[in-house]
Amino acid sequence: MDFGESDRIVHLLTPHTGRLTAIAKGAKRSVKRFGGTLDFFNHLRVQLVMPRTTQMARLEQTRLLRTFEGLRTRPRSFALGCYLLELLDRLAPEGGAPHDLEQLFGFALETLGTLEHSEPDPRLRILLELCTLDALGLRPELRRCVRCGEEVAGPRVGFSVPDGGPVCTKCQAEGPGGTDLLPIHLGTLRALEHGVRLGLERADRLALSPAALEEARRVVGRFERFHVGVELRSQRFMEQVLQERPPPPPRSEQGAA
Ligand SMILES: [Zn+2]
Repeated sequence: MDFGESDRIVHLLTPHTGRLTAIAKGAKRSVKRFGGTLDFFNHLRVQLVMPRTTQMARLEQTRLLRTFEGLRTRPRSFALGCYLLELLDRLAPEGGAPHDLEQLFGFALETLGTLEHSEPDPRLRILLELCTLDALGLRPELRRCVRCGEEVAGPRVGFSVPDGGPVCTKCQAEGPGGTDLLPIHLGTLRALEHGVRLGLERADRLALSPAALEEARRVVGRFERFHVGVELRSQRFMEQVLQERPPPPPRSEQGAA
């Protein structure tokens, strides 16, 4: 975002310090200063001056490594890419164990690459949400009761948003009232668990009926909202784009008029 007369504030995800806010001096006044590299999705090599006090880090130089061009030209991929960036911007840690931060950075790069080359549908969207929460260490429990650790049994179970997982019928009867539990089919939880193992690249193999997708979206959405605290700006745009009909496949030479 622009800052003052000539500067810009940038939010970066880095493999060594996690989420980082830096000031790019002169970036607003002169595009040449950073060569137009300060844009969404761009993978950069950066040179930073880290602050000694509570001041902001200062961005000195950038070199463009990869642009993920496919995300800019395809509306669905762009919408999901923005959603990923916003989730990371809200939830990625500022500092932490080096191995975790490197893994999170690797996840972000890999996911942008996957989104760039896929035609996103609601299944990919739900897996993107779950896999990103997983990469952030916030994945909900999908198999065991969050209170006693036993595997939950179906056909329908209650999902506790604050506890981040299903609550078995025994614990529901013994514990605090179950009025805050969201109903979800066990089969849906199993499919989501399988989906996270499959990964985003194979989201098309995720077997979820439209009704199961809808309940998964509701439960995972409420869980994500609980952690983020606000509705993400990119969310409504993403829902809207995904509701529109996918673009028709390219016509073959023979069929062209
Ligand atoms: Zn239990």
